[in-house]
Amino acid sequence: MNKTLSVPVYTETLYDGYGQSFTIDHLLFEQRTEHQHLIIFENRMHGRVMALDGIIQTTTNDEFIYHEMMAHVPILAHGAAERVLIIGGGDGASLREVLRHPTVTQATLVEIDAQVIEMSRTYFPNHSAGAFDNPRTRILIADGFDYVRQTADRYDVIICDSTDPIGPGEVLFSPEFYAGCHRCLTPGGVLVTQNGVCFMQIEEVRNSADRLRPLFADVSFYGAAVPTYIGGIMTMGWATDNPALRQLPLATVQARFQQSGLQTRYYNPAIHTAAFALPQYVVEALS
Ligand code: SAM
Repeated sequence: MNKTLSVPVYTETLYDGYGQSFTIDHLLFEQRTEHQHLIIFENRMHGRVMALDGIIQTTTNDEFIYHEMMAHVPILAHGAAERVLIIGGGDGASLREVLRHPTVTQATLVEIDAQVIEMSRTYFPNHSAGAFDNPRTRILIADGFDYVRQTADRYDVIICDSTDPIGPGEVLFSPEFYAGCHRCLTPGGVLVTQNGVCFMQIEEVRNSADRLRPLFADVSFYGAAVPTYIGGIMTMGWATDNPALRQLPLATVQARFQQSGLQTRYYNPAIHTAAFALPQYVVEALS
């Protein structure tokens, strides 16, 4: 008998016929914002959980895996990133990780939904850990799609920490958005993207590859298993005009990691280099 039956349950609606459910041990916040349905609750296994439009965005217990990989892989591969752009990322944890790099002089966060930032400040204070108020931070409430197509600003690294391609996040997977990112990168800069769980969302991976390849000299993916992005390996898109950045020797990554002084819980240089090894079904889907 299921011990949790008397407790309300939140079931993710991302996949048809399969999903994950969480007990809502304590509902903290629920509202339809101007852009999406936002819910925040406590769950005994994963800690605080945020979902948007029925899809899990982040939890306090496993967020470090995703955010360390989204920030440290491109920044340490680049080696001298000063200006970093985050599209989405309203919970503030990508921003937190980016600002841990002493080379970064300015981090710009372009988030469409001010409510996500406000509620993350309130209910996920350790996600941002002061990053929203860091003097190196610039926050813009805007659509990332419009921003990358219009801005005159240029960035060494762009991190697209978006929702899935449903609702306001859909445009962040379009050819026009990727072209805007390419336009905003300094020569040899890197774009990384939240690209879904490859076993479950292989079409999303294939579509992004098809759309990125005409724009960038080197397009690939790297991965990490994040428990609450259920279904296996979370795929992160990688696009740059400098192919060497994806093939750095382990010793180079180790030297940069040591120099950065970072303390991490998931990322390390061996994980960094190994993360670019893709399962054969992904290699074949991309060929
Ligand atoms: N790590 C999460 C994941 O893998 O699902 C993403 C988390 S973060 C909360 C995603 C953010 O992207 C949301 O706050 C959402 O409001 C924002 N977003 C969605 N579409 C956007 C757009 N067009 N421009 C800027 N931000 C957008």
